[in-house]
Amino acid sequence: MSPKGVTLHRRPTSAIIDRSALRHNYLEIKKRTTPGTKVMAVVKANAYGHGDVQVARVFESMGCEFFGVAIPEEGARLRQAGIKAPVVVLGGIFPEQAPELFDLDLTPVIYDMETARLVNGLAVKMGVRKKMHLKVDTGMGRLGIKPGEVAPFLREFRSLKGLELEGVLSHLAEADSLKREFSETQLELFNETLRTVREDCGFEPALVHMANSAAVVDLADSRFNLVRPGIMLYGSYPSERFRGKIDLKPAMQIKTRILYLKSVAAGSPVSYGRTFVAGRPSRIATLPIGYADGLPRRLSGSGEVLVKGKRVPIVGLVCMDLTMCDVTDVEGV
Ligand SMILES: *Cc1c(COP(=O)(O)O)cnc(C)c1O
Repeated sequence: MSPKGVTLHRRPTSAIIDRSALRHNYLEIKKRTTPGTKVMAVVKANAYGHGDVQVARVFESMGCEFFGVAIPEEGARLRQAGIKAPVVVLGGIFPEQAPELFDLDLTPVIYDMETARLVNGLAVKMGVRKKMHLKVDTGMGRLGIKPGEVAPFLREFRSLKGLELEGVLSHLAEADSLKREFSETQLELFNETLRTVREDCGFEPALVHMANSAAVVDLADSRFNLVRPGIMLYGSYPSERFRGKIDLKPAMQIKTRILYLKSVAAGSPVSYGRTFVAGRPSRIATLPIGYADGLPRRLSGSGEVLVKGKRVPIVGLVCMDLTMCDVTDVEGV
């Protein structure tokens, strides 16, 4: 908003999202799954900063059948924008949020009996059956009931007529690591739990899911009939070792324009703390972007930017809204 009668020109610093890269990454992931396996695009945290509504529309147009969010508020944004596909709230809910699941048609992930009873009570009152997914903790140590608690949970669950066990899921703690032992242990535990769910308890969940991005590429047996990729959809590799295993295109570009360009003598310091001192006569460009824009302060003295297509170092500390880079070796800046 600008004051009346004032024309405001925005600072020329933008994040540009490439929809064709999103589509490319989605197809690369789809290629790694068998025809019976569906994709739940994880669009939590504003689609990893890429714009949740716009990103969800792209994946919806690609035939994506499920969306995963962390919290109900994120689900509300998708519904307000008219996204119709099932939206699963992966991160759990607080009791006061339970009515929103119904108002917004969100599918909860549940891992405790109190929440199950609460959601069941609301469903029964409304005369509906609410689909839910049961989360099992096989080693992530974050959310989920222990495998040994699944049978007693389901025994009581059977009497909750307002709930439908649509899915059973677990989450991998180190699928990106080179060492696969822990992931395989988690998978084994999950498979045992699924046997309990099916054979001992007599439930046949329509959806079974465990695989995050790394596991989609690297742990085929964890894909079951639904996969939950996040980071790879946006074109980042879960870790360096995945480069070459799947072809991803970064969907986000951060662009800006040089605000100030100056020549400095050898020995001149740059930015807070004088952590950088020019070792030669240098050309320093000041960019209108900083950590308030999300440029990590950790990139101080180690990050790079492209200037006229050439990689140049960020020098000195990244400031709140300004960052300096050394363009001495680039012609014609
Ligand atoms: C974030 C998240 C994902 C996606 O993980 P990536 O590593 O980004 O692919 C999948 N499942 C759950 C439960 C998550 O919280």
